[in-house]
Formats: sequence, C-alpha cells, structure tokens
Amino acid sequence: MRTLIDLVLPTECGGCRAPGFSWCPECALALTTAEPVQLHPRVVGVPPAWAAGRYAGPWRGAVIAVKERGRRDLVGPLGAALARAVLHLRDWGELDPPELAPLALVVAPSRGAAARRRGGDPVAGVARAAAQELGPGRVSVLPCLRTARSARDSVGLSAWERTENLRGRVRVRGTVPAPGSSVVLVDDVLTTGATAAAGTAALAARGVRVHAVVVLAGVQ
Ligand SMILES: [Zn+2]
Repeated sequence: MRTLIDLVLPTECGGCRAPGFSWCPECALALTTAEPVQLHPRVVGVPPAWAAGRYAGPWRGAVIAVKERGRRDLVGPLGAALARAVLHLRDWGELDPPELAPLALVVAPSRGAAARRRGGDPVAGVARAAAQELGPGRVSVLPCLRTARSARDSVGLSAWERTENLRGRVRVRGTVPAPGSSVVLVDDVLTTGATAAAGTAALAARGVRVHAVVVLAGVQ
C-alpha cells in the first residue's frame, strides 16, 4: 500500500529517503555539482565510458528509485544531471562541440518485455529529459537497440558470461544516428560494460561509431 501511495504522491526523497520531500535540497545539490567520473569497464570493446556520478548516496538512491520503484518524478532531475555530464564532456574535449556535430543519445538496449512491465524504459525517459535540457530539436534520442528475447537476465552473471549472453543478441532497429553525429550511448549503470560493448558492436556493424558511453551512476 505504501508503494502505491508513493507512486501517486511521493512522500520521501528519491535520493536519501528523507520524509516530506520528493527530491530534497541536499540530493538536488549533489546532482547539480557533480562532475563526470571516468569508468574502467572490465570487458573490451567499450568506448570511453563515464558516469554522471558515483554509484553511491543520492545517485544510487535515485537510479534505484526510478528503476525499481517506478519513481517517474525523478526522470527530470536525472535528465538534467545527464545533460550537465554531457556538457562537461564537451567542455573537456571528449565530445565534439555543437558547432561541429549534432548530438545523438542512443538508449542502451533493454529487454523489451521487462521495460514494458515497468511502464516504459526509464533510461529512455531520462535521455529525453536530457535532450530537452540541452536544447529541444538539437539533440536526437534514439532508442534503436534491442536485446533479443533469447538473452537471459544478466543478474548474477560474470563479465565473461554477460558478454557471451549478449553475443549477437543486441540488434539495431529503427532510426540510427545521422552520419557525422557525436554519438553517446546512455545507460543507467555500467556493471561490467558487456551491454555497452554489445550495443557499440551492433551499431558499428551499421557503420555508426559510438564516441562515448555515459551512465547515470557508475562504480569506478
Ligand atoms: Zn534526499
């Protein structure tokens, strides 16, 4: 029942679970002031990978809340945080600036049925919110990667097992980034990097190069 009430009217902070806020000032400040953290994936074939924040504190809380507890109200703050991470990466020269290349945010593949059960893929929602922050109409959000039904849920699998599980099972469907775009693959977290590597390979087979992977929260 509590969960049901929270879905209608969040009564605790999505980051730290403080009562009386849906998103408290401390958690808002933590996301606003963070700088991207470079990640070191365990599998090969992942482009330079960054997390908008560390998988701890409000970042961890917000990602879990939006994914597992259906807290759609956190899509906006997380989208704004993702947008800020992309702007940092452009400032640092990790991505082409807007005058050189339009930006394409490719949503990491999720298993379609699982996302539908949870009421839509929250990562796609966060990417769309980030695109709004970065400038409506200037950034494309492309949910063009799908994981085949034959892939197993990756929970509990080792890095090697995850890679094997996804081999040939991530497919490109729908519109891909336009030639010359700065392509960023977006996901919620990066565990081993197997999903990012499989998505990058699937896009490479279609002639699309992924320039960077940006996740919402990452373990270094
Ligand atoms: Zn909080």
